Amino acid sequence: MPHDPLQQYRDRFVGAESDLVYFDGNSLGRPLKVTAERLREFVLEEWGGRLIRGWDERWFDLPLTLGDRIGRTFLGAAPGQVAVGDSTTVLLYKLMRAAVAARPGRTEIVVDRDNFPTDRYVADGVARECGLALRWVDVDTSAGITAELLADVVSERTALVVASHVAYRSAYLADGSALTRIAHDAGALILWDLSHSGGSVPVELDAWQADLAVGCTYKYLNGGPGSPAYCYVAARHLDDLSQPIQGWMGATDPFLMGPVYTPTQGIRRFLSGTPAVTAMLAVSDMVDLVDEVGMAAVREKSVGLTEHAIALADEHLSGRGVTVASPRDAGWRGGHVTLHHRDMQRVVAALWERDVIPDYRDPGGLRVGLSPLSTSYDEVDRGIAAVRELLG
Ligand SMILES: *Cc1c(COP(=O)(O)O)cnc(C)c1O
Repeated sequence: MPHDPLQQYRDRFVGAESDLVYFDGNSLGRPLKVTAERLREFVLEEWGGRLIRGWDERWFDLPLTLGDRIGRTFLGAAPGQVAVGDSTTVLLYKLMRAAVAARPGRTEIVVDRDNFPTDRYVADGVARECGLALRWVDVDTSAGITAELLADVVSERTALVVASHVAYRSAYLADGSALTRIAHDAGALILWDLSHSGGSVPVELDAWQADLAVGCTYKYLNGGPGSPAYCYVAARHLDDLSQPIQGWMGATDPFLMGPVYTPTQGIRRFLSGTPAVTAMLAVSDMVDLVDEVGMAAVREKSVGLTEHAIALADEHLSGRGVTVASPRDAGWRGGHVTLHHRDMQRVVAALWERDVIPDYRDPGGLRVGLSPLSTSYDEVDRGIAAVRELLG
């Protein structure tokens, strides 16, 4: 088993003591133990004690102060460009609408056929609403959206490219700076979905010169079920992009309750309604932890875990008909590994019965999600051994 210099951090998570093998931290991360205390304290003191005064004291700015911290620790984003609020789906809608409006006369949104369903569905809805067409990129489902594939479809018709940095199915890691450049060379904007990269793979939005991004906080950021998503809008676009859900929380002087909506300055204009304060607390704990460990060390362990899973699959499962449906080169792979077998649906159901919890993605894919700080190498060993037994 590989040496794990980050092993001690696993004890910071609830459930570290149990025998359960958790391969789904890329769908719902484990909570940190400190979060249980934080929530209790919040209810008793900050919410219960400060009551409505809490808005002036801290909560009103929390979407932006937490956004800045997420931007710095996970996204390679300078302050003032990241806000927390709404779900990923709603933020996708807001940013896609903003982007399309900023490219009048252009007629297409480019998205790949294997992008996450909500990304495809929202793009389809925005295209119909705005009279645009969807332009599909066909991709290999064991890989993802490459520079070559994207270069073939973008044109002077493209308003916006929507791409996932890490593909939810295969874990293919797209080239952030190359794809951004290809979109820009065609005069289009690009919107990155970072849901499967934030917290497992370093992201460099400013260095890529990305325009827009969204990402989820309940996966590798351990925010808890339904915790709010974040959005990034590059500083150079903040003055001229406008989003469609014109709520009071993104307006100038919300408490003046004025007669008309005037968007406020900066990233705050991308907020709409009252932020989900309680649900941001757990995310903040995860930012603290990754600041302590360092994102480079997190990525190093993430690579170690996926390499180990692939090595075990090759050694013990390939003879039983299992293939690796993720990139073999760690440089092109995010934080999970998909193993393919025609019987995987049955195998995943049986694994859940044994407290081995991966997830299943049709057709025939077992996703081994490896949340870097909360997954041990020993869990990988035991999980793959269980798959081997079930395949007989
Ligand atoms: C998990 C995930 C989402 C989730 O969207 P919600 O609005 O939180 O349901 C969106 N996009 C991608 C790529 C994801 O992996």
